[in-house]
Amino acid sequence: MTNQSSAVKFYSGEQIPLELHKVRIVQKLFLRPIEERKVAVEEAGFNTFLLNTKDIFLDMLTDSGTNAMSDNQVSSMLQADDAYAGSQSFYRMEEAAREVFGKHYVLPVHQGRAAENIVSQVFIKKGEVIPMNYHFTTTKEHMELNGGKVLEIYKDDALDIKSTKPFKGNIDIDKLKAVFEKYGKDKVAFVRMEASTNLIGGQPFSMQNMRDVKAICDQNDTMMVLDASLIGENAYFIKQREEEFKNAEIKDILLEMCGYADLVYFSSRKVSSTRGGGILTNSKDLYLKMRDLLVLYEGFLTYGGMSVREIEAMAVGLKETCDDTVISQSPSFIKYAVDNLDKAGVPVITPAGALGCHIDAMGFLPHVPQQEYPAGALASALYIISGIRGMERGTISSVRDENGDDVLADVELLRLAFPRRVFTLSQTMFVVDRVKWLFDNRELVGGLQWIEEPPLLRFFMGRLEAIGDWPEKLMAKFKEDFGDSL
Ligand SMILES: *Cc1c(COP(=O)(O)O)cnc(C)c1O
Repeated sequence: MTNQSSAVKFYSGEQIPLELHKVRIVQKLFLRPIEERKVAVEEAGFNTFLLNTKDIFLDMLTDSGTNAMSDNQVSSMLQADDAYAGSQSFYRMEEAAREVFGKHYVLPVHQGRAAENIVSQVFIKKGEVIPMNYHFTTTKEHMELNGGKVLEIYKDDALDIKSTKPFKGNIDIDKLKAVFEKYGKDKVAFVRMEASTNLIGGQPFSMQNMRDVKAICDQNDTMMVLDASLIGENAYFIKQREEEFKNAEIKDILLEMCGYADLVYFSSRKVSSTRGGGILTNSKDLYLKMRDLLVLYEGFLTYGGMSVREIEAMAVGLKETCDDTVISQSPSFIKYAVDNLDKAGVPVITPAGALGCHIDAMGFLPHVPQQEYPAGALASALYIISGIRGMERGTISSVRDENGDDVLADVELLRLAFPRRVFTLSQTMFVVDRVKWLFDNRELVGGLQWIEEPPLLRFFMGRLEAIGDWPEKLMAKFKEDFGDSL
């Protein structure tokens, strides 16, 4: 029996996402006056990563470590077993991970990128290529640090903003075959598939695509690695959008997905609404190759850099990932926001995916050249007029080439993340309302330029400034339209 908000019909006929939980612990939020928000963003160097949450109303930066935990997760933390080695907490988590992912060997790590560090060090040799549907920021850095080259072989139409394609996260099978022909199987370190492809709008791949990719990996004796950080939502979309699975249980979909992968890794900050991460495999040989590095970088095999309390909550959270009422929440709220913004003419990625609502900043601010970082400018502008914090996912999040030139991103996105079960419908309506206002006043928003640019992962720590006085003009128009309203 499905138990998800899309299964509830309202008498009015409207399609409204329904919270399938009650709120029992709350945190007070502050919505500061616009003058204070403008000062806060200037002090943060127009980089939303550098804002302090005391100045933020709705924090939609990320779903990483910000999903709401369940009562069962919080209570499990009380029974945590403190031990350097052999903690019972670990064995409970190991059992849950085996059950959910169907893999026997479980290596705990402190977060997703730690898994990427180990997988990249062990399985990538200099000069090898790694074909994938799309990269994730930290994934790519780790692979390149180990001498690998990332090849993105998504379908030609995967980056179309407006689309009705249900599985834009698919790998293009012809391109995958061409990679093996061009480089030869010995030069392909492994093939990577990322569930709910993060950087292109949380777009899922289909089970059929996994089967096709797996067949080609098998023909070439090459491993398939699954980044399962957002696997719950990908499984939910497979159930929603792939005919064969419409009556399947989420847990069976997850098991089939993981079954095609030789190695699965994940960030628990996403998948189990906790902190931490893990690497899983059924191969003793692969396990032994990674084990020693795990102890070197993360800690002993039964804690991997995590606290035992987190490990307990992870055990419960992994099992809850198989629950429709848990994993349907974020996608149904995202769909509400995306459909309403789309109706109002705001350029957003369609169809709605996982993780968040993704606004196309080049479509929103066509007058801001890509060299002036439209997605970063849009993130700052939205914060100024609403106190909503989103994340730039565009050129600022990419890396300069060997000549020091900016590599213009394929897409310039402002991502408004919807952490699981954190925001209510009225807060979601506020987001839609303020984005619509900003869209109607978009010509007031200008670009950004660097004042401090770190060489590595500059989007985390770099500082920029507004080109011209557009923040003042935007604030003046806001006050004209809203008067004293926050
Ligand atoms: C977040 C994320 C990671 C990195 O995980 P962290 O826990 O943030 O280090 C890797 N891959 C994907 C797809 C992610 O979404």
